[in-house]
Amino acid sequence: MIIERLAVGPFQMNSYIVGCEKTGEGIYVDPGAEVGRVIEAARAAGLRLTRLVGTHAHLDHAEGVAEAKEKLGLPYLLHEAELHNLRSMPAVAQGYGFPKPEVPEMDGLLTPGESLTVGEITFEIRLTDGHAPGNITLYWPGGENGTGHAIVGDALFAGSIGRTDLYMGSAKTLLNSIRTQLLALPADTVVYPGHGPETTIGREKETNPFCQEDAENFLQ
Ligand SMILES: [Zn+2]
Ligand SMILES: [Zn+2]
Repeated sequence: MIIERLAVGPFQMNSYIVGCEKTGEGIYVDPGAEVGRVIEAARAAGLRLTRLVGTHAHLDHAEGVAEAKEKLGLPYLLHEAELHNLRSMPAVAQGYGFPKPEVPEMDGLLTPGESLTVGEITFEIRLTDGHAPGNITLYWPGGENGTGHAIVGDALFAGSIGRTDLYMGSAKTLLNSIRTQLLALPADTVVYPGHGPETTIGREKETNPFCQEDAENFLQ
């Protein structure tokens, strides 16, 4: 698997270019700011992008979707519970004093329990809600004897978790999602969060206070 992380814009949100080495097919995960730079990175990696994929639709993760669709002519896939966040982007941008982004059409659904295939790589779609109602994780168990990879949006960060004070956020739901959908994965699974550096499930289990059995005590 080819995976490249590009931190973009004022929120330093991680856009990911994810592709199959064998077929050269790739996807663009979370088109936010700096769309041109991410497209250039995909070209440099020799990938032919086929879809735009949203982990969820907060402003930083989806503000560049309309521009990416226009430049690449690709469909945008999202969990349907994120339509509210997608349509709220102009109001949220206004709140920050940023220019209002265009609200793109959603062209296809990401449904938990189903899969997303990129070349010869098949990702499981898992629901990791609690930060946003339709925050999904793309999980690939890895090739033969390979390491697993999980692109988790803003559910889990190195040493922390996503905020839960936004639309339909719930700390209880988020902790449950992390426990059942992420911590159950093999310890060497590499985690690609929506902000900050990569980590592993094993490292978070050992060091992240929100991944401990008494995590409820750390909630405000
Ligand atoms: Zn978010
Ligand atoms: Zn974010």
